[in-house]
Amino acid sequence: MASPVNSIQEFNSETLVREWLECLSHGTLQQALKRHWRVFVPKVYFPSVEPDMGKEDRLSKRFLFRPIETFLCQGDPKTVFKELKEQNTPSQICGHVFKMGEPTYSCRDCGADPTCVLCIQCFQKSVHKGHRYKMSTSGGGGYCDCGDTEAWKSDPFCDTHRAVETPEERQDPIESLSADLRERATELFKCVLMYAVEMVTWSHPVDLPIGLEQDGSDRSFATVLFNDEVHTYEQVIQTLTRAIDCDQKAAVDFATVVDREGRSAVKVDKDFNVCEKVKNTIERNTSRHGGKPLKVEVMNSAVVAHQAFALKLLTWLRDDVISYSDGLRKIFCNIAMATASDEDQSLLETMLLNDTQLWKAVRRQSHQLFMSGVMLDQDVKKRFAILFTKHYRRLVADFVLDDHSRSICAISMSVQIFTVPTLARMLIAEHDLLSVIMDTFLHECESKKNAHGKFVFERNDRGASSQAVKRAQYMLYDFKYALTCKPQSPDEWSDNLRKHFLTGFQKLLQLLQCIQGMDSVVRQKGQHIEYEPEWDGAFNLQLKLEDNLAMMLQWCAADRKVLLDAYNAGIEILRQCNSEHDTKWETVSVGAHQVSCIKYDVSSQHVSIHLPVSRMVAGIFPLFHRYGIPLRGIQPQTCLSAVELIEPVVRCAVMISQTHAGMWRRNGYSLLNQIYFYHNVRCRTEMYDRDIVMLQAGAALIDSNEFLIHLMNKFAIIQWAKEEYDLPRQGGQQEDLVRQTVTLVEEFLHLLIIILCERYTPGIGEVGERDSVKREIIHQLCIESMAHSELEKSLPDDTNHETGIEEAVHDVANFNKPTSSAGKGVYELKEQRYEEYNPYFYHYSRAEQSKSEEAQRKRKKAANGDQALPPPVPPPFVPGLQPAINMLQCNVMLHIIRVVLQRTTVQRSRSWSEPQLEKVLFLVGLALHEENRAFERKDESFSFTEKALQGEPSILQLLESLVSHSNVEHEAQKDLLAWVLKKFHDVQSLRTKAKAGPVIASTSNSDDRMEKERKRKAQLAAKKRAKIMAQMSKMQKNFIKDNAELFEGAESDLRRVGSDMDISEAPKEFPVALGRKKCPLVVTGNNRVTCILCQEEQDVTATDKSMVLTAFIQQSTVLSKSRGKVVQNPETYDPLFMSSDVFWGTHIGSCGHTMHADCWQRYFDSIVAKVRRRPLRYRQHMTFDIRKQEFLCPLCETLSNIVVPLVPPLGQLANKTVQHVDLSIEDWLDAIQKTVRESIKEDKDKETEEESLMVVPCPLPTLAKMMSESVSKNFQALFDYVYSEDSDHFSDSTNEMLRKLSKDIYLLGLGLETEDDNVRVPVMTWRTCAFTIQVIEQSLREESKPLFGSLPSRQADCLQALVRFAGVSAQNIASDINKKLCVRLLAALVSGDSDKKFVATPGCVLDFDMFHYLVSVCLALPTLYVEDQRSLLGAIPTGGLNEQHVLQLVFTAHIVQILITTDFHIHDSMELEPDADSQALVDIYHRLRKQAGIEVSNVPSAWQLHQRVKHISVPFLRSAALFFHYLTGISSPVELQQENCLDEFDYLCRYLALPSSLAALFDPRNTLINTLVASWCSDDNLKTRISASSEKLTRYPLKVNQLIKLPKDYSDVINSASTFTCPKSDGEDSRAPTMCLVCGEMLCSQSYCCQIELDGMTVGAATAHAQSCGSGVGLFLRVRECQILLLAGKIKGSFHAPPYLDDYGETDQGLRRGNPLRLCPDRFKKLHKLWLSHGIPEEISRNLETNSQLLSIDWQHL
Ligand SMILES: [Zn+2]
Ligand SMILES: [Zn+2]
Ligand SMILES: [Zn+2]
Ligand SMILES: [Zn+2]
Ligand SMILES: [Zn+2]
Ligand SMILES: [Zn+2]
Ligand SMILES: [Zn+2]
Repeated sequence: MASPVNSIQEFNSETLVREWLECLSHGTLQQALKRHWRVFVPKVYFPSVEPDMGKEDRLSKRFLFRPIETFLCQGDPKTVFKELKEQNTPSQICGHVFKMGEPTYSCRDCGADPTCVLCIQCFQKSVHKGHRYKMSTSGGGGYCDCGDTEAWKSDPFCDTHRAVETPEERQDPIESLSADLRERATELFKCVLMYAVEMVTWSHPVDLPIGLEQDGSDRSFATVLFNDEVHTYEQVIQTLTRAIDCDQKAAVDFATVVDREGRSAVKVDKDFNVCEKVKNTIERNTSRHGGKPLKVEVMNSAVVAHQAFALKLLTWLRDDVISYSDGLRKIFCNIAMATASDEDQSLLETMLLNDTQLWKAVRRQSHQLFMSGVMLDQDVKKRFAILFTKHYRRLVADFVLDDHSRSICAISMSVQIFTVPTLARMLIAEHDLLSVIMDTFLHECESKKNAHGKFVFERNDRGASSQAVKRAQYMLYDFKYALTCKPQSPDEWSDNLRKHFLTGFQKLLQLLQCIQGMDSVVRQKGQHIEYEPEWDGAFNLQLKLEDNLAMMLQWCAADRKVLLDAYNAGIEILRQCNSEHDTKWETVSVGAHQVSCIKYDVSSQHVSIHLPVSRMVAGIFPLFHRYGIPLRGIQPQTCLSAVELIEPVVRCAVMISQTHAGMWRRNGYSLLNQIYFYHNVRCRTEMYDRDIVMLQAGAALIDSNEFLIHLMNKFAIIQWAKEEYDLPRQGGQQEDLVRQTVTLVEEFLHLLIIILCERYTPGIGEVGERDSVKREIIHQLCIESMAHSELEKSLPDDTNHETGIEEAVHDVANFNKPTSSAGKGVYELKEQRYEEYNPYFYHYSRAEQSKSEEAQRKRKKAANGDQALPPPVPPPFVPGLQPAINMLQCNVMLHIIRVVLQRTTVQRSRSWSEPQLEKVLFLVGLALHEENRAFERKDESFSFTEKALQGEPSILQLLESLVSHSNVEHEAQKDLLAWVLKKFHDVQSLRTKAKAGPVIASTSNSDDRMEKERKRKAQLAAKKRAKIMAQMSKMQKNFIKDNAELFEGAESDLRRVGSDMDISEAPKEFPVALGRKKCPLVVTGNNRVTCILCQEEQDVTATDKSMVLTAFIQQSTVLSKSRGKVVQNPETYDPLFMSSDVFWGTHIGSCGHTMHADCWQRYFDSIVAKVRRRPLRYRQHMTFDIRKQEFLCPLCETLSNIVVPLVPPLGQLANKTVQHVDLSIEDWLDAIQKTVRESIKEDKDKETEEESLMVVPCPLPTLAKMMSESVSKNFQALFDYVYSEDSDHFSDSTNEMLRKLSKDIYLLGLGLETEDDNVRVPVMTWRTCAFTIQVIEQSLREESKPLFGSLPSRQADCLQALVRFAGVSAQNIASDINKKLCVRLLAALVSGDSDKKFVATPGCVLDFDMFHYLVSVCLALPTLYVEDQRSLLGAIPTGGLNEQHVLQLVFTAHIVQILITTDFHIHDSMELEPDADSQALVDIYHRLRKQAGIEVSNVPSAWQLHQRVKHISVPFLRSAALFFHYLTGISSPVELQQENCLDEFDYLCRYLALPSSLAALFDPRNTLINTLVASWCSDDNLKTRISASSEKLTRYPLKVNQLIKLPKDYSDVINSASTFTCPKSDGEDSRAPTMCLVCGEMLCSQSYCCQIELDGMTVGAATAHAQSCGSGVGLFLRVRECQILLLAGKIKGSFHAPPYLDDYGETDQGLRRGNPLRLCPDRFKKLHKLWLSHGIPEEISRNLETNSQLLSIDWQHL
């Protein structure tokens, strides 16, 4: 025998495989493999606290997996597996195993049950796509049911799997493998599985199994920490940092692995004691408060290594072996399930039974291995199912004791087995599955029974037994799964199935018996109860039982014999329940009737709301109808009388009525909660509704008079029915009691109405399946029109979670589509359906009843003036229940009617009430309906009218006497009475007509006429009212139209000032904003604004108290063309030149509200003080962050953080004496160039480096010497600051506010914490101004709105204030700072190469944004030659020659940018004759490109080039026009106020005083310009920039950034997210995949794994991403929740409705409803607008303000 290879150096794969082959033939493969693994496994999988996964994978591949694969395949594994795959008979079952978060689809039309799902690939290719499907996301596990004929009622195949449908017998796949492959595979799988099972279940931490022992020398140990579900992440992290002395980050990593894998080595050491110490520390730390400590074990490192390898082997088997070949899979199954003898366990059983001893990763792996191995083969699946059932009880017991979530316990596989109909039915019939499950459940609940055998759950019991019961309740789902396979036809029943179903049914009854009567209550008298008794345990159980009860009944309904047996079993249990207490009897009489009643006082004895046995029996009654079984016939009189049968239900009903009468007030909330849930839509089907059926059955089984007396006795209203009860008594004692009785009578009458009217269930009334749903919908819509989801929520669902709404709703309602994109569509009841409205509908809560009544009265009144809400005609009872209607004409009922009517006429009856009268009238109406129906059926037995005429006074006489009686005062009652009388006479006349032929005159005629007359009048009145209303509404509309401004809400007051200039009477001439032809400034309107705080009005002037505008400044990347690029270090960032990708800027927005500066200051100080008074920990949970200067606008609560001082129009401030200056651009440029050159030269001459940074402009006189006299004179005039003592100064307060704003923009714009008054302060102001204008230009462009006149006033006001502020901001900056900046700016365009480097300007003309540049230069230039530090008010830009020339120069540069960078495609489209301009431009194009060294390949036509360049330059011009408009105050041309302006370019050029010909910019006569242009183009930097290797080149125009493109169908979104894995933890699924809607990046949000440190704060992936992608502002889609996440400023965020809607126009946050969702472009556009307009921080602050729950979320962790 070969000696074992002991070291890596000696390793030789071929030798090894050869050796194994040899061993195979000797039957010693097992030993050989072990010899190899003994040496190499510890080497490869040696535990480490810093595992290197890549290395481990490489080593394991080479030394461990590759050899066994080669051994198995005897050739290249890849090729062999591929060949094997081709041999497979393609499976007709998809079987795709779902990953967590993957979308799944169920078909509501075709799925056998809701657990039948398709994967997205199959779904897309199936017909179900067009059906009513639901989508949801998988929780992991489970597989696609496509191709499984049992899972689908129809269309089980998608197109893919239909193609492989092979009807003929399948050959055993093992046969197709070669004999020796079969042999090798069999042996190898056996060895591998045995080894794997032995290792993962190995329970000795220190010793190794025989054959794997190691040499004593290299022993080492590992402290292994295991997962549990008790300790939190934080506890584990904290403990670890202490126990192994690691940092937070390492501890988080360990905790993450423990959570994911189930265990992790946290300490590895040669010394056992070191590891043991760590173990002890962890255990001590985690058991401090008496809790169970975390599980820790010190293990031999080699054991850990072998276990790790065993786990990998299982994965390998599943993913790399059996998934390739049917044959190999079958071999695997055979081996896994083989047993040596009957007592022996198969390997698979061993794994199953040890499941809860294993750690998470092994469990998950083994379950998946079973799934994919076992489930695809019918035969194997069946064997597995039997095995699973055999061990069911043990698996449950293990699971109950385990603390892991169910999804990673073996028991969770039950859903895969029990939902397969053939399997389930086989298991029920052959292996008594129902009893197995129910027995197991009863066993687990044993500890919760009290002495009487009833369950008792304790409140807040966290003890082990309580947890156990909670976990055991999962079994009820298994029970439900097993019941899914309901037999459809009689021949599906076998005797075995019947027998075992019935045993299951009896077991269920045993369970119900433990619930019947539990949590009973006794009315509390005197004192209020001390402790609220526990009640929710029973209801939790009830909820889990509901589906089972319903399905049991469905089974019963499917077979006559089963039905009868089940009924008898139910009655027997009920008898046992009843016999638990003695029954006492008493004799009671009403009128002439005497009855023996059960003596039981509900108001002093025990009553329980839980009566599941009674309700189960009640559930069987309606089923008799379908087999024609008579109700009275089967009633086993011997053991249980009908009176006893209904007794428990009656007690419960009476108790609830007494509660309504206020008798149980002292029993507290616990009882109220029980009653609430008893009626609630989730529980009522199996509780309240069943009780009503029981009473209906009782009413049919018991003589009517007796039935009523039994009820009255229980209600304790026998006395009330006696005439003398109403007589006044002495002393007025017991008034309370009388009042209670009055209410109880109302409740009693209400119950009778319900018993008689609710016949809409099949088997009760003669109705169809959908009638009950229709009735529910009708009554919901009678309350108000509802959206689909609201309506659906109000309906009970069946065992498939279907409410049946779609099938029924269209018959009764119309769907009104939403009118706006924000609204949702609603259902409105069809007109003719309103007559089915019953105000006493049994599912109405009291509030719903009165709301619906009010709505219906109003509706009827508006229609015809009649407010009566008479009973609708109910459908007939089924024959078995027909006797119940006799109640309406029995003597006791007539007596009750008479009593109430008589007392109505009495003055001050003490026991009468209006509701009593209304209900009695309603009952009379019902009786009349029944008589009408009986008459039509020629049935003589029902004759209410006859009986109502008897006696003195008769009921009819009593009714008539009430007409216009003063006690009947409400219109609605009068109308109802009139309706009853009319109906009475109608029915009566039918009868007399039939008896005596036509009768012409009847007593009713006069009434009839009166009634008609009344109606007519009422209708007239209604018409008149309607007319008046219409008139009023028209007047209102006109009024609003006439006073439009008044109705615009709290629009800014500043509006008048700002917009007057926009729209005021258009000037005759075309306005020009710049240069010599500039229009004179016309200021119309006043400058008056109101302070919102003190309400004082004031003019905006330079000298008065300062007024400010609240505003919000934020950093922004909205315009960025280099998404993800960030400012690396704000402390040193040079903001002077905005790079051409506009990657980062600052934006200011405002709500437009103005205040006095000092009023604002006081307001702000008070907020700061208020916040300081709050405890520190609450400060964070505020809607604004005071540390960032945030506050809310005092008027409209808009988030703000700065105030902008208001400045009067700049034209008013500047020198009033305008000098006539005449200077051509050529001369101007020459002078500027000289300035720059001389300034830099002077500077270069200075010696020290420090000084050289201080470029100072060379003085004007020096410069003048270099120019001609006229030029010099005019140039000097441009900078001539006439300072006179009487020129305006800014007031101190305005100056202070100006300074403050500059500083704030600097601090907040750069996000700096420290104050630093430096050269960047003015720059930040210029930038912010330019950036904000660009944002507004783009927003207007995006919405295709005209440039002027369409801005909302608050934006216009803000922009105006900002531009004017920027215009005067130089006032507060040291003039030398300004001058230096100015020289630097100018140098970028006008100086030569060498000079540029000297003053640090951008590389070339393509590198900076020309609009930002324009704004900066315009704002800096006026101060270039200012000589002293006096008021600079003379030196402000007002649109003179300086600005005109700057604009022309910058525009020229921008055209150069366009001509160089734009790719001019050649279009074949329309072509016009080129003019001279176009031709000239083509020449310029060629010249520039030649200078830049670009080859011109595609030569565009002259006309096209010209049009394109004009078009591309428009955004720049629009921005410039906005800037100069607000700077100069010159009104805008009307043409630019119109939508779709055609010649926008030309109008812009005229307004801006630019030559309208592009070629004119490059006028060859203007040599200076052309030399300059040539120097830009031939710049080396430019050449590198446009070369291919350079980073992304900015191309023009800057397109408006869009959000990412979202798929139309939401399932595509889910699907793309399901393939996303956490980027930090190698291949793991992310729990909350979140998509950045700005850049499309997918993130692993809300998870420890992807948290990072950001400025000393631990933040989640979304917050971190928002920082880099959106400069702190984030817009995300949380994929699994289908919810928009907004983030701002690290700690704040909120949720927002997603842009996806279902067919009903509703969103589905959390995907709770699962309806198909489609992208709503309108909503998405709104979201884009919110982002583009920088509205996210404000939106968040508003959401936080309105929903305080959002404040408690730690947004930074998302
Ligand atoms: Zn599939
Ligand atoms: Zn398929
Ligand atoms: Zn379908
Ligand atoms: Zn004020
Ligand atoms: Zn405001
Ligand atoms: Zn992650
Ligand atoms: Zn992003």
